[in-house]
Amino acid sequence: MARDLRAFLNGARLLGDLEALAKFGALPEGGISRPAFSPAFQDAADWLIQRMEEAGLSVRIDAAGNIIGRMGPPGPAIVCGSHIDTVPGGGHLDGALGVLAGLECARALSEAAIPLAHALEIIAFADEEGAYVSLFGSRAMMGELTPNILQSTNFLTLSVEMAAVGFQTARLAEAHRDPSEIAAYLELHIEQGPVLEDAGLKVGVVDSIVGMDLVRYRFIGEARHAGSTPMNVRRDAVRGACDAVSTAFENMEAEGASASGRMTFGNIRVLPGASNVVPSEAIVTSEVRAGSAGDLQRLRSLVDAAFGGAARRNNLALHEDSPELDEAAPLTPRIIETITQVADAIGTPVLRMPSGACHDAQIFARKVPTGMIFVASRGGVSHHPDEFSDADAIIAGAGLLLCSLGELLSGGTRS
Ligand SMILES: [Zn+2]
Repeated sequence: MARDLRAFLNGARLLGDLEALAKFGALPEGGISRPAFSPAFQDAADWLIQRMEEAGLSVRIDAAGNIIGRMGPPGPAIVCGSHIDTVPGGGHLDGALGVLAGLECARALSEAAIPLAHALEIIAFADEEGAYVSLFGSRAMMGELTPNILQSTNFLTLSVEMAAVGFQTARLAEAHRDPSEIAAYLELHIEQGPVLEDAGLKVGVVDSIVGMDLVRYRFIGEARHAGSTPMNVRRDAVRGACDAVSTAFENMEAEGASASGRMTFGNIRVLPGASNVVPSEAIVTSEVRAGSAGDLQRLRSLVDAAFGGAARRNNLALHEDSPELDEAAPLTPRIIETITQVADAIGTPVLRMPSGACHDAQIFARKVPTGMIFVASRGGVSHHPDEFSDADAIIAGAGLLLCSLGELLSGGTRS
């Protein structure tokens, strides 16, 4: 039976920490801009390190810029991680909640003086939001920086930014850890969607993190005079792009793939981009997301079929560029079960749900027993100054995190 440690959790202290961290990178018009390794981020990192040391954690910063606070015996650690960087004009909870709730749990566990079978590590991962390389710190730690990433111009820019604040990316390999050093990974995060709020619940237990398939399609037609070229001889790239996008959405509806999958054409670029020239080129990004590899593949083939058909109908050439695939990451059944049983034991109702957004947890889930807890987001708004969660939802989520950590740390995980 899980021990209810919530009496040791100081909710006001956690809310105070969230408010204090939100001041770093705060914008006069509202919202926070704290991209990784920016001056505001470095100040926030110094602040966090001080709070960690005050809580009795021993703190180190690894070669990727991950901030790691540790307590307890030597050997494999239970890691509680998230991030303190933000998107430009972001909110005060995305990432910050997971790190600061972890810190509050570390204090509570010290005060509860429970014997620890494992060490506890609170980690703030570098550049989760991808100002340069998304999920950078967790990828570095788990050895998931692919040659593709390391040869990208984004990585080169990151190396320059990191050098300016004292890191050498030539030493990145030092951040790599063997998965056996991590007994389990837990992350508390705001939901960033409306599902929990709609269900009238404060807290969710994540069972998988959706995969993402991104591709750039280029329709190539012919640039001609907009006035003197009759409609029936045109090879209009935008006409093809619009046909493709609406057909893809229709296919998705017709196949009943709308409930679980997501399809987004978030960027369309037109060349030469003049009002009086028939467009010769239209570049469309397609991003599909789904909770399983099969669903992801099905969505991608719906898009492929729609775009191929539109190219033929409109007499256009079609190219597919720079595909990127992030496989769906199922979280670990044993950890999901532990969190669910703990929630039951302490009387916190939870919804089991997938995560539609990317998180550091997905990098760990491939190699380490991993679980995630969600806190309801008001209106599902995130990556925006209006991002907000009720204090009682934050405290309920942190309470479940604390008791789950207590269970895992005491070696009480059911294997
Ligand atoms: Zn986040």
